[in-house]
Amino acid sequence: MFTKILLAYDGSDHAKRALSTAAAVAKAFGAELHLSHAPQIETPPIVVGSFVGALDIPPTDEQVAEAGEHIANEVAGLAEGLGVSLAGRHVGRGDAATYTLKVADEIGADLIVMGRRGLGAFGALALGSVSQDIAHGAKCACMTVV
Ligand code: ATP
Ligand code: MG
Repeated sequence: MFTKILLAYDGSDHAKRALSTAAAVAKAFGAELHLSHAPQIETPPIVVGSFVGALDIPPTDEQVAEAGEHIANEVAGLAEGLGVSLAGRHVGRGDAATYTLKVADEIGADLIVMGRRGLGAFGALALGSVSQDIAHGAKCACMTVV
């Protein structure tokens, strides 16, 4: 039923749970698992320890790209541990939902898997803005993992 699964991943615990679910679904259906990650300005302080002391200095494009690469490696390793090899790593700049929807179209994804929330700290909302925008704009099935 599913042949190409696109995981939207931001490094949060929610996204890690989405990764576990996406890997299980990929295995169950013999589907490819692809990663979509759009490194954001807030990503480097989380994944690169040395930025923590310098939060008021915006990271350079190179540093953001490096952080994106770090995330892609993390996902590849976690997926391997779950018995799935990543079929594609899609790391790109810009709005995360717009980027993920573009990748989904390009690869012909038939399922997008994402977390209900992400790195944002405002727990009052049921859905984060990225998961909401992806669900709103997707042309294929979406799974929002709690
Ligand atoms: P908000 O960003 O609106 O403050 P939030 O961070 O809690 O809220 P979202 O950003 O919508 O919630 O995250 C929900 C899910 O969307 C994540 O678990 C992940 O699957 C996906 N996502 C979020 N940010 C990115 C990103 N930069 N690249 C790829 N996927 C992302
Ligand atoms: Mg977010």
